[in-house]
Amino acid sequence: MAGTVIVGAGHAGVQAAVSLRQAGYQEPIRLVSREERAPYHRPPLSKAMLAGEKRPEQIVLRGPDFFDRNGIELMPGACASALDPASKRVRLADGSLAYDKAVIATGAGARMLEGFRYENAFVLRTMQDALSLQDAMARGANLVIVGGGFIGLEVAATARKLGLSVDVVEMQDRLLQRAVPEALSSYICQRHRARGVRIHLGAQIGGVAASAGRITSVELSGGARLAADLVLVGVGNAPEIGLAAAAGARTASGGLLVDGAMRTTLPDVYAIGDCTTFHLPVTGSQVRLESVQNAVDQGRTAAGGIAGQGGSYDPVPWFWSDQFDMKLQMAGLSVPGGEFTVRGAVESGSFSLVETLGDRLVAVHSVNAAADHMASRRLIGAPGRFDRRAAADKDVPLKACLAAPMDRCA
Ligand SMILES: Cc1cc2nc3c(=O)[nH]c(=O)nc-3n(C[C@H](O)[C@H](O)[C@H](O)COP(=O)(O)OP(=O)(O)OC[C@H]3O[C@@H](n4cnc5c(N)ncnc54)[C@H](O)[C@@H]3O)c2cc1C
Repeated sequence: MAGTVIVGAGHAGVQAAVSLRQAGYQEPIRLVSREERAPYHRPPLSKAMLAGEKRPEQIVLRGPDFFDRNGIELMPGACASALDPASKRVRLADGSLAYDKAVIATGAGARMLEGFRYENAFVLRTMQDALSLQDAMARGANLVIVGGGFIGLEVAATARKLGLSVDVVEMQDRLLQRAVPEALSSYICQRHRARGVRIHLGAQIGGVAASAGRITSVELSGGARLAADLVLVGVGNAPEIGLAAAAGARTASGGLLVDGAMRTTLPDVYAIGDCTTFHLPVTGSQVRLESVQNAVDQGRTAAGGIAGQGGSYDPVPWFWSDQFDMKLQMAGLSVPGGEFTVRGAVESGSFSLVETLGDRLVAVHSVNAAADHMASRRLIGAPGRFDRRAAADKDVPLKACLAAPMDRCA
């Protein structure tokens, strides 16, 4: 038996390999990894590791001998260059691997803006990116961040803690526009400004001034000139879909289209993690998510299917971000027309924005309110009417706000 070839050893690929063995899968598993180093957690790259609080070897996904012990052949430094569904082979630089099942777990790559290709401009996706950025932060005083999304804001918070002067340039008129409600954007903006981050909203880049191959300042179209010793471009990612798309897999919204079992449109080829687009039952919409939860849970689902256990992906999506003293935790996805109820006192720094549509709970956006977050992951999508007025009282447990559905047989 040729077994399973997994391309990509990030959160999704490693989880798929682990879950296959946990499900009793006995066939060979090969984990093809373009990166040379042991698979690692990505979230600390903008947080604890960048801050120097964790070393690279402290954020590995599994210990050094885990893969050998579990009969998983980890192939570091191996880049898959083609997938042939007819012969069922994955091509590498020095040969090819036969498969019974292939899993594409190739993630996404950070986008670099054309006008920023200079030696002191960085993106942040890989450990190597984080080490380069860390090195530049140790030598520079002025950091300009292009993009007020999660990565940009996490790096802004880390850089301020390390004593750098930080400007964040965001073209939208609020931070995190696609990810959090307006009230939370304003709160986060205010917390960053209170810690000395200069945030420029609704700002267009006019250009950069450079000397000897290095950016010296970033100019805004209004004329402001932001001094820069280094620049982080945090403007989002492009899913790595080339391998399967070139082999004929269908794509949607930039990702590889998968069904509830994580199957692509190619026979015996699955896809998981940041590179996928899928139908999310809890919202009834087609989405592409970039989160550890999504990568790990899709890895489990694909493994269940390959090992013959079945199972369909039907999660409540969740995500977290750490910025200064804020632990942001989001469960569910915002919907157009969602109504927000504030739970807890914003001034206390611990509160949640509870989002409902009619009498349905659709999302909970929490700041330092872990109990709300954990409860909401169980309640979103659960049947029953959600009482948003009751949820405003933080002493009422969230689960008490959900009335049991009427017994339809009565
Ligand atoms: C700095 C940073 C901070 C983050 N913080 C958070 C957070 O706080 N909370 C959260 O939920 N999420 C966070 N995320 C997002 C989260 O890390 C990703 O959603 C998750 O890592 C996706 O996992 P993945 O396995 O799909 O992709 P990846 O982790 O990107 O792994 C894909 C792997 O495939 C490899 N690969 C690609 N093409 C090939 C090929 N042809 N051959 C071989 N290998 C290949 C890549 O090199 C990569 O190693 C963060 C991401 C970053 C970058």
